[in-house]
Amino acid sequence: MSAPIVLVGGGLAAGTAVRELRSQGYAGDLVVFAGEPHPPYERPPLSKGYLLGNEPAEKALVNVESWYAEHDVDLRTGVTVDSVDPAARTLRAGGEELTWTGLLLATGATPRRLAMADDSGAPVHYLRTLDDSTALKAHLTPGARIGIIGGGWIGLEVASAARQAGAEVVVLEALEQPLLNVVGPEVGALFAQLHREQGVDVRTGARIETIVAPSGADSVGTTIGLAGGDTLTVDRLVVGVGVLPVDDLAGSAGIAVDNGVLADAGLRTSAPGVLAAGDVANVDHPVLGRRVRVEHWDTAIKHGTVAATNLLGGQAAADHLPYFFTDQYALGLEYVGHPGPEGFDRVVVTGDTEGPVEGRVFRVWWLRGDQVVAGMHVNDWDAIDRVRELVGTDADEAALGS
Ligand SMILES: Cc1cc2nc3c(=O)[nH]c(=O)nc-3n(C[C@H](O)[C@H](O)[C@H](O)COP(=O)(O)OP(=O)(O)OC[C@H]3O[C@@H](n4cnc5c(N)ncnc54)[C@H](O)[C@@H]3O)c2cc1C
Repeated sequence: MSAPIVLVGGGLAAGTAVRELRSQGYAGDLVVFAGEPHPPYERPPLSKGYLLGNEPAEKALVNVESWYAEHDVDLRTGVTVDSVDPAARTLRAGGEELTWTGLLLATGATPRRLAMADDSGAPVHYLRTLDDSTALKAHLTPGARIGIIGGGWIGLEVASAARQAGAEVVVLEALEQPLLNVVGPEVGALFAQLHREQGVDVRTGARIETIVAPSGADSVGTTIGLAGGDTLTVDRLVVGVGVLPVDDLAGSAGIAVDNGVLADAGLRTSAPGVLAAGDVANVDHPVLGRRVRVEHWDTAIKHGTVAATNLLGGQAAADHLPYFFTDQYALGLEYVGHPGPEGFDRVVVTGDTEGPVEGRVFRVWWLRGDQVVAGMHVNDWDAIDRVRELVGTDADEAALGS
């Protein structure tokens, strides 16, 4: 009997890969180590439907809980893999040694910590896991004062959920606009406007100098001191300042890492038989012609499928263009592309960016020279095919408006 294929990670990439392995006909032994005490689940609802109280946790599961036993998968939840030996094809987890024939590292990412907040002793939330979301949800109540550090996607989605729960929300963003590095100043300003209209106090260019935790039972809350002299008082702080790849397991196994686990277009790492997928994988992208590490839902799914195929000896490539979606209030969007380090030099917005939120239907195109390096639609759900068609091409203004 040959050793199992082993998947490390309890997220969308591992959950997709294990399902794909079975659906592609792999009948051998399969073990999944999921570090969290839950079967693999998707994270987008943690800052949207689940955080809002509109969706149960079960809805986020990648495969229903019974699927694993029904498909003879040895799912070990709450068990962390401590070390991997690629030469011996073994790993250690939960005090046991296990031999594998193929290994997938899908260890994801973890929130970047903000020492100033952590060290203050104030009540601080990060949002990555189901348990984080459950803990935060309990504090999103009418009148609660929620201070969000970071105006990125997570910070803005939490702001939206908190406002919808009736909380008072302030977003502190260090740059001149939320999402500035992703969408640029024009589109960042549209998001600042959206949140301000919904009653969020969006402070841009905000530099936090002090965070003072409540002291004593009659304390008024956590006080944040900003450069310039303003102070704010909040009940809870949410920190959303990006994530870091969880690549230490690979690194300590001697597998090449550099901002994630380095992988070729087939998701193969520097160690034979070891693949990497999802947020942790820094992949040689065959279409973009450079390395990309993408922290998005769709990539975790696509990688899960490619990894399964290649663990079975196939030759699939992770060649899709990165795709992302978000929902905030009545605004939903889909984004395709990856401008990369060279960025973009022009932004074209077509459609309606004003008026009632649900009526804001527009498209945004990011160009470098004549090339469309990314595109997005807002509330224009039939537009995604057109966006996909144009990204990567040279397009004239007429095409962008059509
Ligand atoms: C709140 C939130 C909202 C999001 N919303 C969106 C969205 O709207 N749109 C979008 O495109 N993307 C969104 N994302 C991003 C998306 O969820 C991630 O890209 C996706 O979860 C990546 O999946 P993954 O499987 O690579 O990693 P993860 O989901 O991070 O899963 C990795 C898992 O591996 C486990 N693990 C790590 N090390 C070990 C070990 N040594 N042994 C065992 N287990 C281990 C971890 O505990 C974790 O459970 C969101 C993310 C968050 C946190």
